[in-house]
Amino acid sequence: MNLSDIPVVSATPTTTTATTCPYCGVGCGVRATVRADGQVEIAGDAEHPSNLGRLCVKGSALGETVDLQGRLLHPKVRGADGTLEQVSWDHALDTVAQGFSRIVREHGPDAVALYVSGQLLTEDYYVANKLMKGFIGSANIDTNSRLCMSSAVAGHKRAFGEDLVPGNYEDLELADLVVLVGSNTAWCHPILFQRLVKAKEARPEMKIVAIDPRRTATCELADLHLAVRPGTDVWLFNGLLGYLAREGKADATFLTASTAGLDEALNAAEDCGDPNAVARACKLDIEDVLAFYRLFAATEKVVTAFSQGVNQSSAGTDKVNSIINCHLLTGRIGRAGMGPFSLTGQPNAMGGREVGGLANMLAAHMELANPLHRDIVQDLWQSPVMADRAGLKAVDLFNAIEQGRVKAVWVIATNPVVSLPDADQVRRALAKCELVVSSDIIERTDTNDAAHVLLPALGWGEKDGTVTNSERRISRQRAFLPAPGEARADWQILCDVSRRMGFAGFDYDGPREIFNEHARLSAWRNDEAPRAFDIGGMAGMDKDCYDTFEPVQWPVVAGSPAGTRRLFQDGRYAHADGLARFVATPRVRG
Ligand code: SF4
Repeated sequence: MNLSDIPVVSATPTTTTATTCPYCGVGCGVRATVRADGQVEIAGDAEHPSNLGRLCVKGSALGETVDLQGRLLHPKVRGADGTLEQVSWDHALDTVAQGFSRIVREHGPDAVALYVSGQLLTEDYYVANKLMKGFIGSANIDTNSRLCMSSAVAGHKRAFGEDLVPGNYEDLELADLVVLVGSNTAWCHPILFQRLVKAKEARPEMKIVAIDPRRTATCELADLHLAVRPGTDVWLFNGLLGYLAREGKADATFLTASTAGLDEALNAAEDCGDPNAVARACKLDIEDVLAFYRLFAATEKVVTAFSQGVNQSSAGTDKVNSIINCHLLTGRIGRAGMGPFSLTGQPNAMGGREVGGLANMLAAHMELANPLHRDIVQDLWQSPVMADRAGLKAVDLFNAIEQGRVKAVWVIATNPVVSLPDADQVRRALAKCELVVSSDIIERTDTNDAAHVLLPALGWGEKDGTVTNSERRISRQRAFLPAPGEARADWQILCDVSRRMGFAGFDYDGPREIFNEHARLSAWRNDEAPRAFDIGGMAGMDKDCYDTFEPVQWPVVAGSPAGTRRLFQDGRYAHADGLARFVATPRVRG
């Protein structure tokens, strides 16, 4: 090669944008610089409180993901001969809107569904949920976050009265004991793990216990690894609850002032027997079980962080509550360096929960089954209808499609043929479905092979909006690349279809307007039906404010515009009586 064949690359950065990594629930801040030659340089954002400039190997490689290889760049509709043909946006949007409208007219609103994703930005998620529940009138919208997070949501609601994560990442660094349950943090939340490694280096007396059937990379950092028999976590934590009670570790003042239901939980715990019985059930060495119990009992500052190994289980919700019970008994919650801590998998699993993007939730932490909540949401949305009962959850949804009860499904930013547990069933279901629509950035996926309509969406680097990470921190994801081909934002596609279906209320001029409505809804009539999820302090942002706002932890109310680092500091919970609930967790293996 001659020297003259080598392209001249300018090393001078042209623009740098502060945005957020799209890979995991840690939610690291990223600085993306588009160089003059079009290459994208990635660096950790030192100003972002979640990662303080660090990035893991996945985040560091983001610059290599922004090329257009395999991208879906134009709307496509499958013709009579089965081949996909490029069509205009008008044609594609009409096909979707007319198809959904016809099926709703002929078979009712429960005959259509949306299946969405924790990869969506909050603004996209908000519009999808609004369309389905407030305008089509069905709660048939579920998400791939169902698979990873719904147990944590249900566990939080049972214990705290609302889906609330008490603490923050700093609590893991401040703790003297960190218990990691069903969490390969080293691989799945790498930057949080690095923070933990640094904290333990600085304070070697800090203890880490890993509870996982497998010996993962995370276990290398642990002082104690309990290779618990799969599905027996409830035994282990019920056993711990009984042990703590017997050892006099109950915080009587906290129990009286802030909790209810201890006796039932203790009775259920006693069913698991003494530590010897627990060790046998969990297939653990009794000395290891006792070492864990003694350490937990002796340490005031304990964080118990749990993840998919706890959540993805037929008894996942009880596992979550068996963990929370131990923190409630000891009053180790709502203070620095302690508390139960759910680690979310996807970058915006938490944002999806905020907008109610699950089939059994409403919006802004309100309940489908609560008439006052339905009235509040309908009042703000000014919507013609309101779903009043839970819709189909992920697995049930695809069963209903196969049975012909759901006749149209719109899949957005996910690939259920690959990611749901029974790929063959999902493939069979989609093959039978009258209308399968897929919004995606990639043209060829297993799900798209079954779709009748493909809608090109924006990818990371092109999208504008917000995400919320595991510690309730809302961050901006900012576009730094132009939309390729004819790709459009998910919120825009959803609004375009909504208007074509004849619905008012979808005339947003951009994600800022959607976020403002989301923030307003969180505070709407909050005096009548109090919700801790309140970001009313962020409502009404102008363009400058939305473009520049710094990461902030909700709640964000008028009294605390800088957000809230830690919940429950006043010992008050979201149940109507202000008390947290112990939940009796039976010893069912799951
Ligand atoms: S830890 Fe998660 S959010 Fe942070 S850089 Fe790695 S993949 Fe991205």
